Amino acid sequence: MKYCRRCILPDTRPGIVLDGDGICSGCRGHDDKNTRIDWASRARDFARIVADARGRSTGYDCIVPVSGGKDSWYQVIRCQEHGLKVLGVTWRTPGRTEIGQRNLETMVRRLGIDHVDTTIDPETERRFMIAAYERKGATAIPMHMALFAIPIRMAVDFAIPLVVWGENPQLEFGGPEADRLATDLDLAWIKKHGVTNQTEWPDWVGAEGLAERDFAAYRLPDEAAFRRFQPKSIFLGSFFKWNSEDNARAAASRGFESGEEHLKTGVWSFADIDCHFIALHHFLKWYKFGMLRSFDNLSQQIRYGTVTRAQAIDTIRRIGLQTPEDGIRRFCVFAGKPETWFWEAAERFRNLDIWKRRGDRWTLPGFLIEDWSW
Ligand SMILES: [Zn+2]
Repeated sequence: MKYCRRCILPDTRPGIVLDGDGICSGCRGHDDKNTRIDWASRARDFARIVADARGRSTGYDCIVPVSGGKDSWYQVIRCQEHGLKVLGVTWRTPGRTEIGQRNLETMVRRLGIDHVDTTIDPETERRFMIAAYERKGATAIPMHMALFAIPIRMAVDFAIPLVVWGENPQLEFGGPEADRLATDLDLAWIKKHGVTNQTEWPDWVGAEGLAERDFAAYRLPDEAAFRRFQPKSIFLGSFFKWNSEDNARAAASRGFESGEEHLKTGVWSFADIDCHFIALHHFLKWYKFGMLRSFDNLSQQIRYGTVTRAQAIDTIRRIGLQTPEDGIRRFCVFAGKPETWFWEAAERFRNLDIWKRRGDRWTLPGFLIEDWSW
């Protein structure tokens, strides 16, 4: 494993490539934000997209996919500042937290938006999550499939001309240069980057007894339907410089709640708080890539200049694994499985290219912290 010299991301993380100077594609994305992207020109592009949407609108000007999290508050606030009539659309996680529910209700009330909360049959979600976890070690495949498909389907079916997503993940977390500079989240992007482990819904028909009909909510519009109406689908973070900490402040100033007691994964008490199961998705990175959610958050903070690399390493040493025991317990209850099922499956996804057995314990040769003990 090799680590970026500037942040603390390892080259095992998908999308992370170290260049000749040992700097990762995530840090280069941050450099792009400061040097290569002309934000004034991007803001003018956004204004043109807004004008076009309002011209084509028959009621709602845009859909903002919202979880109730701080980024979705920021997206709605930005869209409203530009005079857009927003329809908020949510894929309701079966693991929604109390604070997640409150933040969503407060958002609808305080920001004043119409809102659709889409619930998929919990039995379908249960079976799909079990299959996704057993086959790919990825509990979040159904989530990513649903949260991309539902808003885009709604835009096409209700003739809403614009969908405004949050950050461009390749720009924020690392990816090839062309993808970092991209502005559109279109069908091709979803195919390539939709975090569904290169699977589409038909690949899951038959898994855990799921029939084709069960996947209605996970289906993207077909390309012909998409082309007929052509909703514009964009990353807000490609038009205005994205900063998770600034978004949290903007959301908090309007009523968004966060708090240390909700901190389950990573170092931010305002992030990953909507869903009991999200920490599992991040935790499996430990087995697959030898990293944790805290590596993502702290690398962002290093780029923002709010912590140094040495401070970030100290924090990792101190907080350790952050095993999401509560999330694992809840997920196993939801799945109707014993916790041994979770741990046995996790073990099957341990990446033996990086993990080596030494005596009775697993080690990560070349890990960021030499004397780690957790
Ligand atoms: Zn880096």
